Amino acid sequence: MQDCIFCKIIKKEIPCEKVYEDETVLAFLDINPVNLGHTLVVPKKHFENIYDIEENEVTHLIKIAKKISIALKKMGADGTNITINNGKAAGQVIPHFHTHVIPRSVEDNLPLWPAKKPKEGELKEVAKKIISML
Ligand SMILES: [Zn+2]
Repeated sequence: MQDCIFCKIIKKEIPCEKVYEDETVLAFLDINPVNLGHTLVVPKKHFENIYDIEENEVTHLIKIAKKISIALKKMGADGTNITINNGKAAGQVIPHFHTHVIPRSVEDNLPLWPAKKPKEGELKEVAKKIISML
């Protein structure tokens, strides 16, 4: 896509701190890291998010996210978050599919999202709805 910042990074029109590249995937450091080492894994083909990415592409991306996660652990991370934001409501800023691999330490005190207490029967009802949509 012409105006997509990640497509421009993939075409080397914009520089990045690359950590991994193969035929279908590029991984580089996020310029606004949650923690140092925060890496983005992106498909070279433009897909907007999880709704349109091809299954073989997402499978390969997760394999690379695992590889990077292991590298960050070897570097001293106590854990990693691997997240994919799909759509503006979920916090997706760049409309080109990407996986965040975020190194975590036991002392970084980053909050996880707040959980909501479901009402009686709500979990069962939602599970039924999801199952009917699969
Ligand atoms: Zn793109």
